[in-house]
Amino acid sequence: MLLPYFVYWVAVMFLNRVACTLVATLLAFLGSQVHSFAAICEPNFTQKLCVAGHAYDRHCTPLPDSYSDYQIDRQLHDLFELSPGMVQKGFCSVSEIRIVKNWGTISHGGFVDGTRIFVDRDFLFQIALMEPDRAFERNTYYFPQGSDAESFELVDHHQVEKHPKHAFGGEFVVRYEFAHFFLHELAHILDFNWEINTHAGVGYFGCFHAHQVLGYENHTQGWRYISIVSKPFPKGLTSEVYSQLLNSEFASFYSMSSPREDFAELFADYVLLQYFDVNYTIEKSGEELFDRMLQFENPNIQKKLNIVRLVLSWSEMTKQNQIQFANDRGACRGAFDPR
Ligand SMILES: [Zn+2]
Repeated sequence: MLLPYFVYWVAVMFLNRVACTLVATLLAFLGSQVHSFAAICEPNFTQKLCVAGHAYDRHCTPLPDSYSDYQIDRQLHDLFELSPGMVQKGFCSVSEIRIVKNWGTISHGGFVDGTRIFVDRDFLFQIALMEPDRAFERNTYYFPQGSDAESFELVDHHQVEKHPKHAFGGEFVVRYEFAHFFLHELAHILDFNWEINTHAGVGYFGCFHAHQVLGYENHTQGWRYISIVSKPFPKGLTSEVYSQLLNSEFASFYSMSSPREDFAELFADYVLLQYFDVNYTIEKSGEELFDRMLQFENPNIQKKLNIVRLVLSWSEMTKQNQIQFANDRGACRGAFDPR
């Protein structure tokens, strides 16, 4: 999920800065001439889903009948129907959902390249059949990625469990991991979408990264995108690490790997909570270490949450507010002021 974006991002930053600025300006102008995309669109998942032997094979073929057991198409439609307009827009702008048989060691479960979503077949089968309220055991995190800084490895030897649950009761209408995966990838697609993010090369959370890199925080972290953990995590999680997370501006430990993952993680969690009523807790031996909804009330994460809300409301903004949004993003001011 990470490395391709980092490479892309660096390339955009250093090789194509001028060209991208021109393209962005042009697209912003063109975008302003056509009123925003309609909130209603037809995602055509059946036509977008295909299977390839390897990620970048030339051919990607329609799903064989044996895939029907997993109801991938239907689950995507369910997710689409319940999603807010901007997420639906993201779905509609997906050009292909490529299921890859021989995944190798590309990344965990999937990634986005342009408007294509690549997903490991085994991983997809797993999340398509998991119980709706079940989550993966996430016990190893590596970060920062795409950095020459010392790599931190967090290994959990304490059987921490993530428990998806409803914020206000009710039934699970989507499978948690399935929904989280696709909402996370769609967040990347919205983040890279030049139509709404005229600085897509550096993403919506680019100002937070710039703030760190430029040393406003008076530290020398270089490209590292991390601020709540100053040294490698000790072997094994402690409650203290989760209370740090609870008081931080990051949605998850994975968020700390880059501004792009930070945005995608927060976006997915926010949409799940607000539109699917899905909260989660992280527990260890019955002790509650983290509560998603509780963290969203923390003042430290409000700036980023506000950006997520703005992105979700983009299609309803007036033209003038869309321009303001783009200008603020470019200048790291207003909602995008990281200070
Ligand atoms: Zn990602």
